[in-house]
Amino acid sequence: MPSRIELICLQKGMKMTEQRRVVAKVLSEAKDHPHVEKVYRRASRLDPRISIATVYRTVRLFEEAGILERHDFGDGRSRYEEATDEHHDHLIDIQSNKVIEFHSEEIEALQVKIAEEHGFELVGHRLELYGVPLDKD
Ligand SMILES: [Zn+2]
Repeated sequence: MPSRIELICLQKGMKMTEQRRVVAKVLSEAKDHPHVEKVYRRASRLDPRISIATVYRTVRLFEEAGILERHDFGDGRSRYEEATDEHHDHLIDIQSNKVIEFHSEEIEALQVKIAEEHGFELVGHRLELYGVPLDKD
C-alpha cells in the first residue's frame, strides 16, 4: 500500500524511487513533527541502506513541492510535517520538545482584526507558543 505522501508525490508526477517511498512512508506516519535526523533513524529501520544525505535531499524535495511544511521551533533544527489544508498552530513544551497542535477561532479572528487595523488583508501567519508544564499538585 502506498503511503499518503507517496500518493501525493505520484499525483504531482514525481519519480518515486524505493528510498523516496521509505521517506514518504515515515513522514506519512509521523505525528510528532520530526527533524531530519529522526526521519533518518526511522527510515533506516525500514531500509538500512538509506543515507542521511538521501533523507535530507528527499525531505527538501518534498518541501519544495509543497508536500511538507517546515517549522522552526527554536532549537535550531527544522521540523517537518505533512502540509494540510487544515490550519493549526503549535504549542512547544521546551522541556521535552513535545509539540501540541491547537486551533483557536478566537486567535484566528484576532489576527484578521489586527491585520485589518493596520490596513492589511491577512494571507497567512505562523504562531508558536513555548511553555513548560504546570505543576499539578
Ligand atoms: Zn503541526
